[in-house]
Amino acid sequence: ATPTALLVGTGRGASLGILIKGPEILESTRRIDTVVLDKTGTLTAGRMTVDTVFGPDEVLIYAGAVEQGSEHPIAQAIVDSARTVHPTAPDPDGVDRNWEVTDFQAAAGGGVSGVVRLPHSGVDMGARVLVGRPAWLAEQGVSTDRVDLRQIVADAEADGATAIAVAWAGQWQGVITLRDQLKDTSATAVREFRDLGLSPVLLTGDNRGAALAAAQEAGITEDNVYAQVLPADKVSVVRDLQAQGRTVAMVGDGVNDAAALAVADLGLAMGTGTDVAMQASDITLVRGDLRAAATAIRLSRDTLRIIK
Ligand code: ADP
Ligand code: MG
Repeated sequence: ATPTALLVGTGRGASLGILIKGPEILESTRRIDTVVLDKTGTLTAGRMTVDTVFGPDEVLIYAGAVEQGSEHPIAQAIVDSARTVHPTAPDPDGVDRNWEVTDFQAAAGGGVSGVVRLPHSGVDMGARVLVGRPAWLAEQGVSTDRVDLRQIVADAEADGATAIAVAWAGQWQGVITLRDQLKDTSATAVREFRDLGLSPVLLTGDNRGAALAAAQEAGITEDNVYAQVLPADKVSVVRDLQAQGRTVAMVGDGVNDAAALAVADLGLAMGTGTDVAMQASDITLVRGDLRAAATAIRLSRDTLRIIK
């Protein structure tokens, strides 16, 4: 290939907010036939909002305290909601009476936990609070025989929401449901992928109901939806598609997407996402606009056509 034309291609990309790591990357887009899309933060705005809280007041307060340690969009939404509903403004003496958490732990694709206490009141629960996917809580030994809460989870997920379980003292205490919105450019981007002859696939750690709701809105067919996929298994889905003879571009934004981005034939990271995702990718879409992924593929095809 003529290096000059490739350099012109990467230069044009940069002016469009498409940062290409090296001119040789344009070559690898030639045979792409499948685009795998992460949901949260890629297809959706990644700014989740709390819908409803079920259970005692402590459910939101404790969950908000523990989630302070996480950067997940779910965590940010729960912290914001907890601060709004239960403001803990600093006292006149300047002491911030926010809940303090010790021994914070995060499980990718599962949830978070920590020991919550209120430092200045002497109140110390001394109990681990767990916040996460209901199935993950069950794996952590939390009893899930709460028919009422299970029904709330099932209803929320069927309705396209994300349901997060909250537990302490080994008991399931409540549920927080959240919603996310598709970016207004996502459906157009999916149409552009199809126009380029690419098959769009949705890959998410979220539940099937939330995944299907987003897919339908974006114009991705049900048989191309992979839901409840653990971070480590996102790689396997990409590898399986490749084993089927597909050449895969993957678009993602999170720490949980990094391995899959690296394994894909072409990795594209949202510039609005995590550094880890950008480092694992060949291309960064500076503005976090999914349409730029279609533009990037079109641009490299045009560039390669000039060369040939
Ligand atoms: P996605 O692929 O949609 O970005 P993740 O793999 O990050 O999803 O997470 C999958 C699921 O794990 C979430 O839908 C949620 O149920 C749970 N989860 C992950 N991180 C957290 C967290 N900080 N707090 C609560 N739940 C979480
Ligand atoms: Mg994401």
